[in-house]
Amino acid sequence: MKSVYIVTDLEGCAGVVSFADQSYPDGRYYDAAKKLATAEVNAAVEGLLEAGVEEILIWDGHGAGGIVFEELHPAARLLHGRPMPPWSRLEGVIRRYEAVVMIGQHAMAGTLTGNQNHTQNSRAIDYLKLNGRPIGETAQIALYFGALGLPLIFLSGDADACREAEELVAGISTVAVKEGLGRGAAISLSAVEARRRIRAEIKLAIERQRVRPIPPLIWPGPYILEKRFFHTDVADAAASQPGVERVDSQTVRLRGDDIREIIYR
Ligand SMILES: [Zn+2]
Repeated sequence: MKSVYIVTDLEGCAGVVSFADQSYPDGRYYDAAKKLATAEVNAAVEGLLEAGVEEILIWDGHGAGGIVFEELHPAARLLHGRPMPPWSRLEGVIRRYEAVVMIGQHAMAGTLTGNQNHTQNSRAIDYLKLNGRPIGETAQIALYFGALGLPLIFLSGDADACREAEELVAGISTVAVKEGLGRGAAISLSAVEARRRIRAEIKLAIERQRVRPIPPLIWPGPYILEKRFFHTDVADAAASQPGVERVDSQTVRLRGDDIREIIYR
């Protein structure tokens, strides 16, 4: 285990509790929130280095950007920019790494106490279900990377995001940096303590992976992805894509045998 791909987000970091003030790019504390996220990511890099990992790529997964570039740990490289390149082009990059970890993750849309809970687009998507099972961003990453042979072995975020990951991936290591009390409120660890725990736990996660490896997450196909939107116009646009079936005014379904071809559509 020498190479790790880090997927980052902003909403699941300690101290970042508000979409409006911190996670949206027009928020008054957006820049401060990015600094918190960057420090958590750097703590993860430190832990990985202590565990002997040599190649570390950080993918800034927050839509508007969640990493302060000039504060990035010198041992890591950053994959950033929107729009994202096509997944088919990213695959060549992802395959260079042996495992994936997630920092700053939030719970799926609809999670009662999940701080800033959402799935992909907080203003558009009500829920995603894969073969009848509700899924969030953690499952999307675990399944996509799983299809490329990378196991998800560590996640930090709020307590609901950690529970979601544990239900998804047996044996995954997690660090809850805050306990959500509602979509807009949480009890956060101090920034210093959150970083200390991430650094220590991710190191253990790598060491465990070497002894008793978690396999890549693969669910048996064929797949039916159901997407429900908040508004009918968004469902109209989705339903106009080829191969998309309209279920009702706000819901569409996609079918496929290759998880990579439907999980992010
Ligand atoms: Zn985000």
